[in-house]
Amino acid sequence: MADDKDKALEHFMQGLKRRNPGQKEFHQAVQEFAESVMPVVVANPDYQHAQILERLTEPDRIITFRVTWQDDEGNVRVNRAWRVQFSNAIGPYKGGLRFHSDVTLSVLKFLGFEQIFKNSLTGLPMGGAKGGANFNPKGKSADEVMRFCQAMMCELHRHIGEDVDVPAGDIGVGAREISYLFGQYKRVANRYAGVLTGKGLAYGGSPVRTEATGYGCVYFCQNMLQHVDDSVEGKTTVVSGAGNVALYAIEKLVAMGANVVTASDSSGFVYDAEGMDEDKLAYLKDLKEVRRGRMSEYAERYKHAKYYEGKRPWGVECDIAMPCATQNEIGRDDAKALIDNGVRVVCEGANMPSELAAAHAFVKAKVLFGPAKAANAGGVAVSGLEQAQNAQRVTWSVEEVDHRLHGIMKDIHRRCVEEGGNHEYVNYALGANIAGFRKVAEALLAYGAI
Ligand code: GLU
Repeated sequence: MADDKDKALEHFMQGLKRRNPGQKEFHQAVQEFAESVMPVVVANPDYQHAQILERLTEPDRIITFRVTWQDDEGNVRVNRAWRVQFSNAIGPYKGGLRFHSDVTLSVLKFLGFEQIFKNSLTGLPMGGAKGGANFNPKGKSADEVMRFCQAMMCELHRHIGEDVDVPAGDIGVGAREISYLFGQYKRVANRYAGVLTGKGLAYGGSPVRTEATGYGCVYFCQNMLQHVDDSVEGKTTVVSGAGNVALYAIEKLVAMGANVVTASDSSGFVYDAEGMDEDKLAYLKDLKEVRRGRMSEYAERYKHAKYYEGKRPWGVECDIAMPCATQNEIGRDDAKALIDNGVRVVCEGANMPSELAAAHAFVKAKVLFGPAKAANAGGVAVSGLEQAQNAQRVTWSVEEVDHRLHGIMKDIHRRCVEEGGNHEYVNYALGANIAGFRKVAEALLAYGAI
């Protein structure tokens, strides 16, 4: 049996790589997923007959388009944008837009693929998608960002809709960009509809959407710890990133009594041995969200803190590691350093922050490992709640949305435990992959061969 499964996995991955040459991030995401679900597929002739894995790894469609815009000097600039509509098996396409110079089709395909199962895990009716552009927002003026967003929506509006595809934010796309995109959607489509999530509260956004990914990640972490009769309180926690996910993860960790000692950006990380508090977090939010400054300024403001140029924080001793920056930010050696230093929990706020070897190492060392598709599902879950509010033309209270977010993260945790082996050590990566997969696979079987 183990042999069958290994052979099937190897054969499947060879085919996938042949069909998608050079797309290494996509290969990595599929490999990680297929390792978990292959035994389920091999054991079920219906899944094999339905070509379930082949269908799930081929996007429904990919839209590629040119975005032409003008910079502040009047120069015409050209970027490439995509929307990968991966699967609408269990709901309209749903997933963020990423603006970053490193965005490629491979990156968006890995993200769109992950999104299918993450969205499935939330229990809400959402399919999987991802989009974005190789546009680098760093150093661009607000006017330039606005013109880029408007130019992008000139094309994107044709492909989205509240029952078709509902984009949201991701790296490089926050409240400001969603506002520009939504304003342009209204102008070109002449419709006011819930076609984007992460909107401002004044025009159809949901309370807690901004905080949801970070808060949800901490709730998931707390669920993992409670399952072994422990809690985040008093735990030394290393966080990477200083964007939307990291800032609100830190906020919730501080509120729950954890000792958060790091934050980072692409230039390096700060180590604050005294731990962060509300005042330091307010400073960090202003630095990163308003002034868009560099992390080194934190160490200039708080003299006891140390700034490590060009380094990641994984060498810092901690109980909990919460990677909230970007994909593959924890390599094999980083994982080894964390394990050697006694890490007990790794909870992924970013998408695929752990390389495959790192993820394997955590499970082997019996570190509680909360994979992204479970741990960071809070963001898209509240996006789903935003869609629900928009459809009913109502706005719920902060308490209502936060209460639902709590419930959703708890349910995701329970599903992971059920499928990940309800033993002393729960393999959450296995559990998340199988639980996310089952619902989508059942839908595909029910639809027949389409
Ligand atoms: N970009 C987020 C994610 O990776 C949120 C997507 C959404 O809200 O649609 O899940």
